[in-house]
Amino acid sequence: MLLTQKAVAEGARALIYLTAQKADLLQRGKTEEERKEADELLGFLTPIAKAFLTEIGYEAANLGMQVFGGHGYISEWGMEQNVRDARIGMIYEGTTGIQALDLLGRKVLMTQGESLKGFTKQVHTFCKENADNEQMKPFIEPLAELNKEWGDLTMKVGMTAMKNREEVGAASVDYLMYSGYAVFAYLWARMAKVAQDKLAEGTSEELFYTAKVQTARFYFTRMLPRTKAHAVSMMAGADTLLDMPEEAFAL
Ligand SMILES: Cc1cc2nc3c(=O)[nH]c(=O)nc-3n(C[C@H](O)[C@H](O)[C@H](O)COP(=O)(O)OP(=O)(O)OC[C@H]3O[C@@H](n4cnc5c(N)ncnc54)[C@H](O)[C@@H]3O)c2cc1C
Repeated sequence: MLLTQKAVAEGARALIYLTAQKADLLQRGKTEEERKEADELLGFLTPIAKAFLTEIGYEAANLGMQVFGGHGYISEWGMEQNVRDARIGMIYEGTTGIQALDLLGRKVLMTQGESLKGFTKQVHTFCKENADNEQMKPFIEPLAELNKEWGDLTMKVGMTAMKNREEVGAASVDYLMYSGYAVFAYLWARMAKVAQDKLAEGTSEELFYTAKVQTARFYFTRMLPRTKAHAVSMMAGADTLLDMPEEAFAL
C-alpha cells in the first residue's frame, strides 16, 4: 500500500513537471517549431494529467486511509478528510468521462493519431538510446513493447469507431487509463535512468536514488500490468453498454 502511494505521488509529480515544462516551452520556445510541438504535447497530456492523476490520486488517498485500519476511518486522524478532498478531483477537473472523450475523440482520433505519435516518438527515442544498457533492460523492454501496443490499439479503436461512433465513448475511459499507465512507465523509466546514473557516479543521497530505482521496479512489475485489463476492456465493444433498456435500470 505504501509503495503504491509512493509510485503514484512521485510519478504524478513527474507528469505535472512534464506538462509544466511544455507550457513554458509553448510560451518561451525559441522557434515556431518548438512552440508548436510543445502545444501539441500539452494538448495530448492535459486530459491524462487531469483524469488519470485524479483517479489514481484517489486510489492513493484511499490506501492512505486503509493502512491505518479502523483508525483511518476516524475523523481525528485526518485521513478520511484526505479521501473526501481527493474524491472531488475526478469531478471538478472536468470529469474522467469527459477528459477521456477529449483524449480519444478530439486529441487522438481527430488528428489521425498524430498527437499520440508526437509522444510515442519521444518514448521510442528514449528506448533506442538505452537499448544496450543492461541495467535498464527491465524497464526498456516492457516500455518498448507497450509503446508499440499503444499505437496498435489506437488503430484498432479508430477502425471500429469509423463503423460505429459509439465505440469511441465505449473505449474512452479504458483508453485514457491505459495511456496514463503508459505515460507513467516512460516517466518511471526516465527516473530509474537518472537514479542509476547518480548511483554509478557516486552520490551522498544513495538511499534516495536507490528508493527511486526500487519504486520504478515496483511500478513496472505490480502496477503497469493493469494496462492488460484496460486493453482487453477497451476492445470489448459498445454493445454491452447499450443493450439494456432504460426501464431495466429502475428494477
Ligand atoms: C466543488 C466544485 C468546484 C468546482 N469548481 C469549478 C471551477 O472552478 N471552474 C469550473 O469551470 N468548474 C468547476 N466546477 C464544475 C465542474 O467542472 C463540473 O462539476 C464538472 O465539469 C462536471 O459537470 P457536471 O457536474 O454538470 O456533471 P455532468 O456533466 O452532468 O456529468 C455527470 C457524469 O456523466 C458523465 N458524462 C457527461 N457527459 C458524458 C458523455 N457525453 N459521455 C459519457 N459520460 C458523460 C460525466 O463524466 C460524469 O461522470 C466545480 C464543481 C465542484 C463540485
